[in-house]
Amino acid sequence: MFLSYPSEYPPMERSSPQEGLSALTDDAERNRLLAEMAEQSTDMISRHTPGDWRFIYASPAVGNLLGYTVDEIIGMSAYELYHPDDVEDFKRRSPSVSYERGLYTHTYRFRCKDGHYTWLESTSRSIRNPDSGALEEILVVSRDASRRIEAEQTNRRLARVLESSSDLVAFVDLDNRISDLNEAARERLAVDNPEAPLILSDLLMAPSYQQLQDDALPTAQQEGQWRGEVEMCAQTGEVIPVMLELLAHKAFDGRIEYFSLQARDLSAQKAMEAERQQYQAEVSRASRLMTMGEMASGLAHELNQPLTAIVNYVSGIERRVERSETVASAQLRKPLQRISATALRAGEIIRRMMDFARKGQPQREAIPLAALVDEVLQFCASSAGRSNVQLGNRIADTQMKVLADRIQLEQILLNLLLNGIEACHSDEEGDEECEPKQVWVEASDVETGQVVIRVSDQGSGLPQAEPELLFEQFFTTKQDGLGMGLAISRSLVEAHGGHLWAENAAEGGAVFSFSLEKV
Ligand code: ADP
Repeated sequence: MFLSYPSEYPPMERSSPQEGLSALTDDAERNRLLAEMAEQSTDMISRHTPGDWRFIYASPAVGNLLGYTVDEIIGMSAYELYHPDDVEDFKRRSPSVSYERGLYTHTYRFRCKDGHYTWLESTSRSIRNPDSGALEEILVVSRDASRRIEAEQTNRRLARVLESSSDLVAFVDLDNRISDLNEAARERLAVDNPEAPLILSDLLMAPSYQQLQDDALPTAQQEGQWRGEVEMCAQTGEVIPVMLELLAHKAFDGRIEYFSLQARDLSAQKAMEAERQQYQAEVSRASRLMTMGEMASGLAHELNQPLTAIVNYVSGIERRVERSETVASAQLRKPLQRISATALRAGEIIRRMMDFARKGQPQREAIPLAALVDEVLQFCASSAGRSNVQLGNRIADTQMKVLADRIQLEQILLNLLLNGIEACHSDEEGDEECEPKQVWVEASDVETGQVVIRVSDQGSGLPQAEPELLFEQFFTTKQDGLGMGLAISRSLVEAHGGHLWAENAAEGGAVFSFSLEKV
C-alpha cells in the first residue's frame, strides 16, 4: 500500500515553481505539506520508474480520473494504458522528458479501468540524484483534458463545416476588420491573398455597406441577429446579390466581441427570375399580337368608318367647289372641322392599337381597376357590336386598385372578354334582331387582401365537365382557335401570385374569375 505521499520524495529545488514553500526551513515539514496537497488534489500526481514508466506512486485522484484504486495502478506500466495510436508518439517524445530534465507537457489518451479512453494532459518532470545526476524517477501531474479536447474537436468540426460550406462566411470585428473568410467567400469574392487586410466596406457595395452600418449591425447588436438582402462586391468588381445572415457573438461578460456574416449567393436565382420575367413578357407580347391578329377584321372595320366619313366630307366639299367657284369659307368650316375630328378619331384607334402592341418590361403598379376595364371594353367594342353583345363594367367601387402589370392585366381581361363575346355569338340568321346578350366584368374584395375579378357571359356555358381542361395549352373547341388564350392568361395571373378558374353560372353562361393583390 502506498497511500500517503512518500516522505522520501526528492526535495524540490528552491528555484521550483513552489516558491511559496521555500520560506519553510524544515524539509520534512515541506514534504509533509506537499504530500498532503497531493492527497487532496483533484489532479492526479504520480511517480514513475524511468524506462518502462511503472507507477510507483499515484495520488487518490486516480480513482476519479481512471477508475483504478491506488493499489491497482501501482506497478502497472503507463505503456499498458496508452492508446495504441499514441504509444509511438510518446516513445518518440520521452527522451526529452527523461534526459533534458525540463518540464514537459503533453496531451494523450489513457485507458480507464472500464476500458474506455480518456484524454489526459500531463506535465512531467525528471527527478535526478543530486549527487550522481542519475535519472531516478519521473514525476507527473495529470488532469482530465477530455472536455477541452471535445470542445476543440467540436470547434474543428464546425470550422470544417464552415470552411466547406457553399455559403460565404466571414468574421468581422468591432472595427470592421475582416478576420476570416471561408473558402467559398475567398473564391467568390476573388480574394487572392487571404493575408492582405480587408475591411467590411471592401466586401460590400456602398449602399449595402451603409445599410449594414445604419440598420443591420445596430439590430444585430440589440437582437443578436439580422437577416436581409444586400449586394456584396468581389475584388474583381462583380456585384453579387446575397441573402445575408448577420450574427453578433458575445464574450462571457455579455460584450459583443465580433460579428459573423453568412451570405447565400442569389446570383443564379436572380438570373433565373430575370429570365422568367423576360419570358413572361415575351409570352404576353406574343399573346397580344395573336389577339391583334384575331381582332384585325374588327379593327379594320372600326378604322373604315372614319376613313369613309372623311372621304364623304371631302367629296361634299369638292361638289360644292365644282358648283360655285366662290364658296364662302364659312360654308367650308363645318365640314373641315368634321374631317379633322374624324381623322383624330381614326388616329385614336391607331394609337390604341399601337399602345396595345407595344413592347414593355413588366412593371407592377397600383392600377385603378374600373378605369382599366373601361379601356379594355372600348377596345373590344367593335367585336362585341358584330356579335350583338352588350359589354358592361359592373365594378361598383371605382376607387378599387390592384397591384399588377398594366399590359398583362389588359391582356388577361381581353382574352376573357373576347372568349365571352365569342361564346355569346351565334351564326344563325336574324341573330342581330334578338335581344343582345351580355358580357360583363365585376370585382369584389376578399378577406385575404385580394380582389377577385369575374368576367361573366350569357353564352353557351363551358364545353367540358372538367373546367381545368380548358386551361391546357392548345385545347380549343373553335374551328380556327389556337387554344392558347386561357393557358397564357393563367400563367400571367399566376406570375402575379393569383389564381384563375372557370365555372358555369347557375343562370347559364360561363364565369371566369381571377384573383389579384389588392392595394
Ligand atoms: P381559343 O379561344 O383559341 O379556343 P382559349 O384558351 O382562349 O383558346 O379557350 C379554350 C377553350 O375554352 C375554347 O375553345 C372554349 O371551348 C372554352 N372557352 C373559353 N372561354 C369560354 C367561355 N366564355 N364560354 C364557353 N367556353 C369557353
